[in-house]
Amino acid sequence: MKEMYAEVIVDISVENLDHTFQYRITGDLVGRVFVGSRVLIPFGKGNREIAGFVLEVSDIAKYDPAKTKSIISVLNDDSLVEQKLIRLAYWMKSRYGSTMNRALSTVLPVKKNIRAKESRSVRLLLSDDEAKEKLEYYATRKMVARERLLRELIEAHTIDYRLVTSKLNVSAATVKALSEQHILEVVRKRMYRNTVKGTSAGPAIRLNEQQKRIADDFIEEYDRGVRNTYLIHGITGSGKTEVYMQMIDHVVSRNRQVIVLIPEISLTYQTVMRFYQRFGDRVSTLHSKLSDGERYDQFERAKKGEIDIMIGPRSALFTPFSDIGLIVIDEEHEHTYKSDQMPKYHAREVAGELALLHGASVVLGSATPSIESYRLAREGVYKLYVLDKRAKEASLPTVTCVDLREELKSGNRSMLSEKLRSAIEDRLAKGEQVMLFLNRRGLAGFVSCRECGNVIKCPHCDVSLSKHKYGKLKCHYCGFEKSETGVCEKCGSKLIGAMGSGAGTEAAEDLIKKSFPQAVVLRMDADTTKQKGDYETILSSFANREADILVGTQMIVKGHDFPYVTLVGILAADMSLNANDFRAGERTFQLLVQASGRAGRDTRPGEVIIQTYRPDHYAITAAMTQDYEAFYEEEIGYRSLLGYPPCGHMLAIMIESGSERECFSCAGSLAEVLRNGIISNVSLIGPTPATISRMKDIYRYMIYIKSESVDMLVKIKDNAEEYCNTLTSDVRISFDLDPMNSY
Ligand code: ADP
Ligand code: ZN
Ligand code: ZN
Repeated sequence: MKEMYAEVIVDISVENLDHTFQYRITGDLVGRVFVGSRVLIPFGKGNREIAGFVLEVSDIAKYDPAKTKSIISVLNDDSLVEQKLIRLAYWMKSRYGSTMNRALSTVLPVKKNIRAKESRSVRLLLSDDEAKEKLEYYATRKMVARERLLRELIEAHTIDYRLVTSKLNVSAATVKALSEQHILEVVRKRMYRNTVKGTSAGPAIRLNEQQKRIADDFIEEYDRGVRNTYLIHGITGSGKTEVYMQMIDHVVSRNRQVIVLIPEISLTYQTVMRFYQRFGDRVSTLHSKLSDGERYDQFERAKKGEIDIMIGPRSALFTPFSDIGLIVIDEEHEHTYKSDQMPKYHAREVAGELALLHGASVVLGSATPSIESYRLAREGVYKLYVLDKRAKEASLPTVTCVDLREELKSGNRSMLSEKLRSAIEDRLAKGEQVMLFLNRRGLAGFVSCRECGNVIKCPHCDVSLSKHKYGKLKCHYCGFEKSETGVCEKCGSKLIGAMGSGAGTEAAEDLIKKSFPQAVVLRMDADTTKQKGDYETILSSFANREADILVGTQMIVKGHDFPYVTLVGILAADMSLNANDFRAGERTFQLLVQASGRAGRDTRPGEVIIQTYRPDHYAITAAMTQDYEAFYEEEIGYRSLLGYPPCGHMLAIMIESGSERECFSCAGSLAEVLRNGIISNVSLIGPTPATISRMKDIYRYMIYIKSESVDMLVKIKDNAEEYCNTLTSDVRISFDLDPMNSY
């Protein structure tokens, strides 16, 4: 039998990952030491007995085996957080491909010097009656920001200062003014606490019949010890969040902890506030704006048992709770749940593995579930719950479609159909608000020469530059910018210009301003939200009704609640439909349904107008009737025909190098190695240049492998990793299992 060795780390932290020591596994410990095991080892010169964690097991000796010490014993203790995180990292590394160090740095918190921070909160000084009087005064004066702040303060009394300025969009100047008038005070406290004090656990909303049935069923199963994955398919506004909270409440009452994942973009003041109001300061949140220190602080609190509930984006999965009972993933279809860095994990899958380690249940929720999850629910692997009514009286908007081909025939070449134009006219007259959605930035698709056909491209990427205002040409992949010269670089012709077909948000904004000079128009896209805070500023001024029309990319589609928006226009539904990606239909459907959810959130009825060249496409017809089932049936048929996920699995391997020749030859030999190793029922495509074959001066080649079996793909990935280890050239290889992006 081969000798086995373990890499042991004594102080498990990201900073120490390189400080591991090799020990022999001998005697009756053979077969009992695994990655994640806690072991007792003789350490240092005096052979002091200390504990460490095993990060790797292999049969390769780093040093002279005779001089390598042996592990003394195994100290497994299942309640240890570190042990579970190491096991999780190992699972991620094995499934998605990456080094163990990389996987560990993904799951372990980064320790940073944390200085005690000052926390500030805003506290109401008025009595309820006084406050209500003031509220009316603000309302009649249309002092919307003050009104909004006061309304929240009447509810909560004390609110975290950062929530006031960021999520509530109230300026520091306003807070100062109100403080000077003794309406509120700013309370300062040392020690950073990401919580809202004074909001001790509040009463729950009475669930309606549908909601109650779901919560009761979950609780009954939970108490019977059943651990399951549940999918709540609930239309927008059907009260999914209330159901989650009921479930969470129960799990927390059993002294276990809960992780709630929500897409970063829905980490809005409103959502977070609801959790604080229900669970008080046993809740904490993570978001991308926290510094490493603040993040670490939240993790420490979780470890010490000061909180029970962590809300955050996918990285919240790695909160070091000792006994997780439930993991909730809201808007589970969102593509932000897939990591774009190695290991390229999907939060839904990692949640499943984490739930196994802890004996937890998983609850997924969405108005437009991913095809993956819905299929599993159909097959009975997940338990399906349905909420098909809006919790409040609000009705779903009416959705109509405009056939842009007809519009062209009747001579209208503009981005606005007659129907949408007159609907906007109508809302402006009524003082209501409009959101217009277009999935492309800039003015036009690309600039080309009419004489020789030359298209102006980015010098660093294999993409055409997009035309923006003031004669600027921009690369949307690397940020490269240059000014238009008006002359073709290739043939010198002056007949060079923008091609009209691909109009973007800037062009839309111009057109809207020209067509409706009486309206105030805002634009929100990657170009107008470069600075920190831009995003909030635009949203708050729209929420304050300082503008009538908001034009934007998909940034505007999600999560926001604007009661005065009664019209949503989708300017060109086809843009996402025509994307070169097997998920294009799914994404379009989700986008359209979510966008529709923005209209008529309040008592005023909403209307949605979809402009498209393909009104018969099933993603569009199904979105119009909000018919998820119809969409699913078509989509799953297509996926199954072509063996795309979830009907089969796919592994995308990207080979990158600064040298095109290296890249090409390495991709070629890798493909050959893999082809030779393949046994059966696997199809390998490539190598081919990626859709964007060069990005930021790095060349990119792809190999795609499809198989019905995930295990088979993982094996192929292992082979590829082994091959990579033999490479000496400067080539990078990365893996993406069941990709969410096209490359
Ligand atoms: P979803 O998460 O499905 O979009 P929410 O939980 O946010 O839905 O609920 C939508 C709105 O309906 C919220 O304002 C919420 O407070 C309200 N709501 C939810 N359930 C109930 C209920 N049982 N009774 C009254 N209002 C409810
Ligand atoms: Zn030319
Ligand atoms: Zn570029």
